[in-house]
Amino acid sequence: MAEKRDYYEVMGVPKNASDDEIKKAYRKLAKQYHPDLNPGDKTAEAKFKEVNEAYEVLSDNEKKARYDQFGHAGVDPNFGGGPGGSPFDGDIDLGDIFNSFFGGFGVGRNANPNAPRRGRDAQASVAISFEEAAKGCKKQVSYQRVESCQVCSGTGAETGTDVKTCSQCSGTGQVRVNQRTPFGVVQTTRSCDKCGGKGKVVEKPCHACSGSGRVKKVKNLEIAVPAGIDDGQVLNVGGQGDSGVNGGPSGDLHVYVSVRPHPIFERRGNDVWCEMPITFTQAALGAEVVVPTLDGQVSYQVHDGTQPGDVFKLRGKGIPNLNGRGRGDQYVRVTIEVPKNLSQKQKELLLEFDGAGDEQRNYQKRKTFFDKIKDMFDK
Ligand SMILES: [Zn+2]
Ligand SMILES: [Zn+2]
Repeated sequence: MAEKRDYYEVMGVPKNASDDEIKKAYRKLAKQYHPDLNPGDKTAEAKFKEVNEAYEVLSDNEKKARYDQFGHAGVDPNFGGGPGGSPFDGDIDLGDIFNSFFGGFGVGRNANPNAPRRGRDAQASVAISFEEAAKGCKKQVSYQRVESCQVCSGTGAETGTDVKTCSQCSGTGQVRVNQRTPFGVVQTTRSCDKCGGKGKVVEKPCHACSGSGRVKKVKNLEIAVPAGIDDGQVLNVGGQGDSGVNGGPSGDLHVYVSVRPHPIFERRGNDVWCEMPITFTQAALGAEVVVPTLDGQVSYQVHDGTQPGDVFKLRGKGIPNLNGRGRGDQYVRVTIEVPKNLSQKQKELLLEFDGAGDEQRNYQKRKTFFDKIKDMFDK
């Protein structure tokens, strides 16, 4: 595989570019290399892929931070630690540190270590196209989660060795301590330090999980992304997070969705906006024009005398509502192309058009325009 180019270089933006600048650069490049606009052009196709890959990382704050720190190694799932964690996180888990501070998930000093505990939630991210967000899609996500060790079936003991009842506490997990006080001997119980309160000890720890009974694994999962999902929303997939402990339920998987901007369409709520250039003649005389929509091309009758900036609406051609029925609309803002490089004959015809025809009406129009300005200053 060829050496990967720097993502900032691919996008043509500086390293300190804002989210907005990155988005803008993406829209421009996606438009330039979009396969629909460059049919059969392999170089454009490769560029389009490269731009999408770069945008997927640079538009995701978490991935961008890893990329900034570790380069391609920080975001490539085939490299080291895989997605969801830097390849250098090793055994250190922020969640574990958090738990050791706050005693979360029942591993505090007073909690029963044999009680069932729910697994932690896992995180994944997925980048989809504008069309995929509008229509819904199935996507493969790859993420890290903690699973029960298959080598020792979660017992933590090396194959062929035993899990024994703790000799110090006889399997109760608690030891009694006699304390001398001015009021006599007081007996207290505390958690057994030999077995950590579990009542069981392994003879020889499992080589695969170092005796914890749990291992980090990269999981590949196909998820259904519902139609109407928007950039920045999070999908919850029940039961696909870390597996539970002592028979507790698994955590959930949170999938952070980013939607790539479209070269033509822009989303506002569930409505889709786009600009549509028509010719000067079409605007003046009216014409049937072809408009791109999420459902393919539709024809629309532009009425005569259409002005630049006029907006027409295609009902129900927007994005489906995420929860429930119905769809947004599509709004099309008209821009008018002024003809360039006219022939002598065309120029003469235009001059003739300008001079002749409804001269009176043109004059009136100008007059009302200047009248309006005059009114503005008279107030
Ligand atoms: Zn094991
Ligand atoms: Zn013990």
